[in-house]
Amino acid sequence: MSDMAIKNRAGTVGAPVIRELRNFVGGRFIDGGAPFDIIDPATGRVHARAYEANAAIIDQAVAAARKAVAGDWGTMPLAKRRALLVAVATGIESRFDDFLEAEIADTGKPYELAHHLDIPRGAANFRVFADTIANLSTETFEMDTPDGGKALNYAVRKPLGVVAVISPWNLPLLLMTWKVAPAMACGNAVIVKPSEETPSTTTLLGEVMAAVGMPDGAFNVVHGFGPDSAGELLTTHRGVRAITFTGETRTGSAIMRAAAPTVKALSFELGGKNAAIVFADADLDAAIAGLSRAAFLNTGQVCLAPERMYVERAVFDRFVAGMKAKAEALTPGLPHDAGTSLGPLISAEHRDKVLGYYAAAARDGATVVTGGGVPALAGDAAGGFFVEPTIWTGLGPDATVCREEIFGPCCHIAPFDTENEVVRLANDTDYGLASSVWTTNLSRAHRVGKAMEVGISWVNCWFLRDLRTPFGGTKLSGVGREGGEHSINFYSEPTNICIKL
Ligand code: NAD
Repeated sequence: MSDMAIKNRAGTVGAPVIRELRNFVGGRFIDGGAPFDIIDPATGRVHARAYEANAAIIDQAVAAARKAVAGDWGTMPLAKRRALLVAVATGIESRFDDFLEAEIADTGKPYELAHHLDIPRGAANFRVFADTIANLSTETFEMDTPDGGKALNYAVRKPLGVVAVISPWNLPLLLMTWKVAPAMACGNAVIVKPSEETPSTTTLLGEVMAAVGMPDGAFNVVHGFGPDSAGELLTTHRGVRAITFTGETRTGSAIMRAAAPTVKALSFELGGKNAAIVFADADLDAAIAGLSRAAFLNTGQVCLAPERMYVERAVFDRFVAGMKAKAEALTPGLPHDAGTSLGPLISAEHRDKVLGYYAAAARDGATVVTGGGVPALAGDAAGGFFVEPTIWTGLGPDATVCREEIFGPCCHIAPFDTENEVVRLANDTDYGLASSVWTTNLSRAHRVGKAMEVGISWVNCWFLRDLRTPFGGTKLSGVGREGGEHSINFYSEPTNICIKL
């Protein structure tokens, strides 16, 4: 056992606790699998132990899921299925603090962030899709037949079957439920493989599913890693019909290859190298406030974060000075400390990667406006995986930190002179997830917003979205769209029934 102690919000220290995270299969937590440690990134200490699902456990999960689709869950009347989804949302809310502490322990993110973003959105996803599934129309066409009669065509939606949900570590509960809720709303059974870094809230969701009386096998959790582990076993399993994946582009590519022989349906939300554009006519204070939040929220570990910023030359110096002040006002520290506004990176390995980019920027001759290193922290946080928020200027578009996704609290800011030039610069990337344009000129807002080769183009805002709208990426940032009816279209399969009248 480690000497890890759980601190509550008041900062008092409780008994040492190592959470045991077992696989949840067929409606119950099962023994088996090889143990692996889960680290609290704010302190570097072990706080939980999960059990890596082997091939036998994956087979068991697939069998349980198939049984659920063919039985109680797949055939359940819609009103009852919706009521269960709402009960899951309520179940998360009734154990809000458990989810909150589990998410904080896995990610090290500041208490306030997890409190106002991760856990509420985790619950909200179930309510949103319980509503969405209730309000779908059916496609119907009456046709003329060659013999002068009529025929009626109408499409009915059916679940795909077993859906594997493979999720990342940056917004664990939020991104996982964003997939689980619509998949289950459509009557599919899911097998979730959370990130090996952040399995705690997914495991807790298993407890909630059992408590609300979800039919056995409708929701399963398997722990483990990607290649040669639970992830790959799911992507190659004949019994899995679809994979919904959020994570790195390289991983998406590997999953696509693994899924090819069994021709699974795929939905991919992948990496980004997003651009922000600030025109001189923008409300500059709002742009600085909005884009500093965008760059540093969740320590920059958000796929939508703008790591490339382009600012019209007339306001460039003022914008950079404003961003510098915002970055330097951030306070790294332990999640429950009242002043903390910047958490750690997810792991020592990821910190090495981000620091590698900090070094590359320096080597390429960047001007380091602020940051570039590791903050000196005392006490428990000294063992955490913190880096300084960092801003660069002075690099060309081909510098490594302007091309590759870093996934840290950093951005490069470059000046531009014309609208055409900045549209070209912003789109000059292999990725196409999101952009954020700041201007008070409405026509330009629409023109530039539309010209962005991305899935979501924000104007005078960032990370704002009605969950009924399409979400996804272009180019290397993804395949498909989810959100509202777009999710339902992925997680269900229409059968057209044609009746000769
Ligand atoms: P990752 O690709 O390393 O891992 C994601 C998940 O895939 C994990 O559960 C992992 O175990 C699993 N996995 C890894 N290799 C696998 C394989 N070969 N087969 C099956 N499963 C495998 O991603 P990450 O580091 O957890 O997350 C960060 C990345 O996610 C960033 O690139 C970020 O941009 C991206 N992301 C994208 C979105 C979006 O909506 N587009 C949202 C959040 C994060």
